[in-house]
Amino acid sequence: MDELVKGMTKDEPFLVVGLVDTLTVETAKSVHDTYPTASAALGRVMSGALLLSSLLKGGQKVVVQVAGDGPLLGVVAEADWAGRVRGYVKRPHVHLGLKDGKLEVGRAIGTGYLNVIKDLGLREYYRGIVPLQTGEIAMDLAHYLNVSEQLPAAVSLGVYVDVDNSVKASGGFLVHPMPGASEDAIERLENRLKKIRPVSAMILDGMGPREIMEEAAGLRIDVRERKEVSFHCPCSKNRVLDAIAALGKTEIGELIGKREAAKVECNFCRKEYAVSQAELFSLLMDTDAGPSDTMTS
Ligand code: ZN
Repeated sequence: MDELVKGMTKDEPFLVVGLVDTLTVETAKSVHDTYPTASAALGRVMSGALLLSSLLKGGQKVVVQVAGDGPLLGVVAEADWAGRVRGYVKRPHVHLGLKDGKLEVGRAIGTGYLNVIKDLGLREYYRGIVPLQTGEIAMDLAHYLNVSEQLPAAVSLGVYVDVDNSVKASGGFLVHPMPGASEDAIERLENRLKKIRPVSAMILDGMGPREIMEEAAGLRIDVRERKEVSFHCPCSKNRVLDAIAALGKTEIGELIGKREAAKVECNFCRKEYAVSQAELFSLLMDTDAGPSDTMTS
């Protein structure tokens, strides 16, 4: 079972989050038929979104968008407060081989931006955008947390893809010193994190989120929250109809002009929806305004 665990270190005030989402990322790989470099990028962004989701409250969700000039073009993942996550890469068939035994996610992403959008249940979405530091995702997320949310944190992410293209390990951790953490403890932690082995190696060794958290922090952990994690896409025919309605009269008229059912594929789960001519007509009747500026995702 994939799991996200949140806790505090004993003795020192560090918030620590640990994640193992191997099955979830393997599911995403199958859904999108990603090649190894694309699988690793998708897995890291999905894991990153899950780590950020651990800071949300009930009913909230977070979207992480990575856009770059490398061959992958972009990666998007969305995670909610309940541990449900979905994601996609713009170009799934990207594999750049290995460099020093590692999949080259940074080169596949290139130079660009990390954009975080949070639906906190308020009228406006929260948005934060930072330039990518390395494109390797973990450091980019740490930079985003530091700059946009004034939350100093260490983030580590890892995906191991086997020679048969299956995802054998995926997960990560986040450590954030809370007010009251001593300078000494922060320095000890920084030194420790420089020498720590990759999180994918810990998962391959059979470690769960709690063991990963304890290895990262070097301290015992008081677990505060555990959540099961899974790939889940909440798309539906009704949401597709809403999205078409939001296109406005002109576009709906153009779809009707094609005299066949409109086919709409969900980016996140590849499920295809057919919208019949009759349904398009009824959307046209219901759309009394001109082209709408509503955005529907
Ligand atoms: Zn879907």
